[in-house]
Amino acid sequence: MERYKENKIKVYNSLSKKKENFKPITEGYVGMYVCGPTVYSNAHLGNVRTFMFFDIVYRYLLHLGYKVRYVRNITDAGHLENDADEGEDRIAKKARIEKIEPMEVVQRYTVDFHNVLKNYNFLPPSIEPTATGHIVEQIEMIKEIIEKGLAYEVNGSVYFDVLEYNKNEHYGILSGRKVEDLIHNTRTLDGQSDKKNPQDFALWKKADERHIMRWPSPWSDGFPGWHLECSVMSTKYLGEQFDIHGGGMDLKFPHHECEIAQSKTCSGKTPVNYWMHTNMLLLNSQKMAKSTGNFILPNEILSGENDILPKAFAASVVRFFNLQANYRSILDFSGEALEASEKGHTKLMEAVNFLDKIAAGKISTFNVQEWENSCYDAMNDDFNTPILIANLFEAVKVINHIKEQNASLTAPDLFAFKKALNGFVFDILGLTNENSKDSSEKINGVVELLIKLRKEARENKDWALSDQIRDELIVLGIQLKDGKEGTTFSVN
Ligand code: AMP
Ligand code: ZN
Repeated sequence: MERYKENKIKVYNSLSKKKENFKPITEGYVGMYVCGPTVYSNAHLGNVRTFMFFDIVYRYLLHLGYKVRYVRNITDAGHLENDADEGEDRIAKKARIEKIEPMEVVQRYTVDFHNVLKNYNFLPPSIEPTATGHIVEQIEMIKEIIEKGLAYEVNGSVYFDVLEYNKNEHYGILSGRKVEDLIHNTRTLDGQSDKKNPQDFALWKKADERHIMRWPSPWSDGFPGWHLECSVMSTKYLGEQFDIHGGGMDLKFPHHECEIAQSKTCSGKTPVNYWMHTNMLLLNSQKMAKSTGNFILPNEILSGENDILPKAFAASVVRFFNLQANYRSILDFSGEALEASEKGHTKLMEAVNFLDKIAAGKISTFNVQEWENSCYDAMNDDFNTPILIANLFEAVKVINHIKEQNASLTAPDLFAFKKALNGFVFDILGLTNENSKDSSEKINGVVELLIKLRKEARENKDWALSDQIRDELIVLGIQLKDGKEGTTFSVN
């Protein structure tokens, strides 16, 4: 259904710093690129906040009937420590410390990332390209930038000439930084840098003898600069100009600023029409970040194995917590906030469940169409999920009034109400209705039953059956422990 024809979205564009009418380059089609994770460690909940918001954007665009090509990359090379042009590659460093191959690091954390996304009910992107899968294209782009006179080689490394670019273009257009000010803010490490000017950034770095992730190039055996992969992969899969580019606010500078400079140099065109940036998730009033150790892992929240929360929470509750805040506001993570979200989530799901049991009335005391329109208005206003959720709670009120027989809906209205509510809750917000408490109680009951059957088998000296029960439970991650007081179990 081409709902996008009657739903005109406004998008806050970080480039113009204004909400703008969203008009895709090709009617009915949207190209969206989101910077993906650097797979040198487990994605933390802050990373998930950013990816979750773009999951919502993707879901909503699909819901409106757009054909969306959503590209989210995996950074598996080139991202150095401190986002700088010097220092060790994050992945290579992890490989060195753990004495494993860099590609083992990449594999381990890519698998973990996908596991988190599955647990948190993310839709997979249309394409998930990797930096190492596009080395050839990156070398070609560097050649093109050199040909255009905006990059230079020194000792096997190639740098983008920011001052030269800034003569005709605007370096700082996205981040608002001034090239002059950048001189004072940019460190050259003990004069080691080969750069002409401190503002310049690396397109290719010559690998020193310790650097194991290296590829041959016309300039040296080395590796691409971090910013290059996103210019290359967005152009390759979405074209020289595309609709939406997203990421966290911390990527605006230097990463996205450099992307614009690289892409614009090659094509002569403004690469992205709408830049969207999410604000940061905080823990203890500080940005959640791997480097400072101030973070919680998404799967630790589900298992309850962490020092921050009083208990385990369901993924859908965490999703709900995230979406209760506007993506452009900072969001503080805490156990209390999650508990409050859990209450709200339960209330919403109880109402959604009850709606299935409601019988149609003779008259409608509630204007379903008006309510549905206000839900769309919220999403059309720069994907305003907290306002949408407030509207969903208006629906909860109505359902509770119907429960108390203080309100009613005719059959067609009831049908429309259910369809719209389910659409917003499950398809657009991606919440799920699995009652995790219920299912863990059921698992406990089943294991207790098996413990009883095993005890009977042992009393009958049926050791084969008793061992079979124990061993097959181990395969399922359930460990039985025989003790004086009887048999207990733990779930891994
Ligand atoms: P990285 O793997 O560090 O490149 O980060 C992946 C994505 O997560 C980027 O878009 C970052 O901007 C984003 N990000 C990192 N920390 C946070 C945070 N605390 N809150 C929200 N987004 C974050
Ligand atoms: Zn990127």
